[in-house]
Amino acid sequence: MRNDFPVTSGTGLRCKGWRQEGLLRLLENVLAVGEDPDNLVVYAALGRAARDWPSHRRIVDTLRTMQDDETLIVQSGKPIGIVKTHARAPVVIMANCNMVGQWAKAENFYEWERQNLICWGGLTAGDWQYIGSQGVIQGTYEIFCRIAERHFGGSLSGRFILTAGLGGMGGAQPLAGRMAEAAILCIEVDPDRIKKRLDVGYLDSTAETLDQALDMIRAAQAEKRSLSVGLPGNAADLYPEILDRGIIPDIVTDQTSAHDLVYGYIPSGISPEEARGLRETDPDRLIREGRASIVRHVRAMLGFQRGGAVVFDNGNLIRTQASEGGVADAFDIPIFTEAFLRPLFCRAVGPFRWIALTNEAEDIRRIDDYVLDRFADNWIVTNWIRLAREHVPFEGLPARIAWLGHGERTELGLAVNRMVRDGTLTGPIAFTRDHLDAGAMAHPNIMTENMRDGSDAIADWPLLNAMVNCSSMADLVAVHSGGGGYSGYMTSAGVTLIADGTAAAEERLRLTLTNDTSTGILRYADAGYDDARDEAERQSVRHFDLG
Ligand code: NAD
Repeated sequence: MRNDFPVTSGTGLRCKGWRQEGLLRLLENVLAVGEDPDNLVVYAALGRAARDWPSHRRIVDTLRTMQDDETLIVQSGKPIGIVKTHARAPVVIMANCNMVGQWAKAENFYEWERQNLICWGGLTAGDWQYIGSQGVIQGTYEIFCRIAERHFGGSLSGRFILTAGLGGMGGAQPLAGRMAEAAILCIEVDPDRIKKRLDVGYLDSTAETLDQALDMIRAAQAEKRSLSVGLPGNAADLYPEILDRGIIPDIVTDQTSAHDLVYGYIPSGISPEEARGLRETDPDRLIREGRASIVRHVRAMLGFQRGGAVVFDNGNLIRTQASEGGVADAFDIPIFTEAFLRPLFCRAVGPFRWIALTNEAEDIRRIDDYVLDRFADNWIVTNWIRLAREHVPFEGLPARIAWLGHGERTELGLAVNRMVRDGTLTGPIAFTRDHLDAGAMAHPNIMTENMRDGSDAIADWPLLNAMVNCSSMADLVAVHSGGGGYSGYMTSAGVTLIADGTAAAEERLRLTLTNDTSTGILRYADAGYDDARDEAERQSVRHFDLG
């Protein structure tokens, strides 16, 4: 974390109340833990916390001065005004990067971004919910555990995972792999990113050559020792080279920024430094050569799959880019959501997180204790919390993520609000969840691929989710669509709540947390999933079954 982007500690208020103060602290936090805060970039190459610095300053000033009965409106990272609402209305509502269907293309996005008309908020960057790599560590760990259960008798001990990309999100992979007890090799083209992950303790070791890296992995496999190795290099060169040597890892994926050929993926033969220059001088070359590299990269992934590896797309559009480059069978590689997580989403179990707004790590430990006790029979949650305590260092404001479902989130939210009120915790706690949550995302190449009823690309669901959360009095509600290479590929919704111990917060938490997951169960029940219909029945979520 950098000193020039600090987080705020303690219980002193700079705003009218904790709802505004909490959101301000979350905005500070996404920059504190972000990848390139000087440019307001939080992660994924272009995901910004605000449109530009004047917008950022105005957002900060507004949060500091606005009244309880006012709502700030943010359009693609730019605060455009305040409307008079009422004390139960959201403090902030946002629409980030939503383009009209036929116009929702990367080239329009870049042009409108250049004209400063739009910016991409990623999923949790633009709405100030990102907590550093922990969020994605848990998601990646969850995927590895599901693969272990399905393919490897429940354990990845002695197994070899090959992946690439150690950026804002991808940087979680080595730690998640190690927590899942595997030996994981992470290829990264930018040595600075490798160093950063070593410095924060997410990566164990580095190798200088492929031979050295493979030796380290083999030794760890033989001893059934978990290990993560970072190797500098381009995945488009090294994946084919590993395949050519006849080495088939047990699991292969990738988390380079393949979704964006201008600002993300680095083509073979071009250094990250050169790519930065080419973004201005010759972006077409980056697109052309990036796609050609991705074709090789994905062909190697398909080769690993044919050789028996469990290969999956981890949500970076790499198959889509390869298929546009002519790889007809790119979609033989499954997407992680459909392959491993859909049964959880049917029950609205998904990534839920809480953040200690006073910057007090002990508050998170107290909540960990509560979760371990209250959800003692939920192995997914308790196992994760124990591992996270041991392995995941806090970045920025102390925070925790865990996959909780309908009812569980409400129960935790209300319990934490009581703990704030009775002084068990030093101050308020913010609750958010990922956009990659049951009711909150339409993304036909990631979240909603191959939905049972064919509703993959219907974006009504996240819009309904956002409206339900506004009606339920959440503190911040955001509707995002994809930017850069994700333009036209997705729409999602985000929500934040500040548990400040008050009775008003209790009401907001009860309604929003319950209704947010209800929309997830309803979405999957409507798509015909029996698990979701069972969950609706079991949890008294009122689903109208009209077929
Ligand atoms: P990032 O831009 O912070 O990092 C990407 C990393 O990939 C960089 O370190 C870059 O140097 C490296 N890289 C680029 N091209 C490479 C190449 N050819 N070979 C080796 N390394 C290369 O992005 P991020 O936040 O880490 O996200 C990575 C991708 O994952 C993005 O596409 C993001 O949208 C996606 N993502 C998906 C999910 C999900 O749905 N599971 C969650 C988070 C992020």
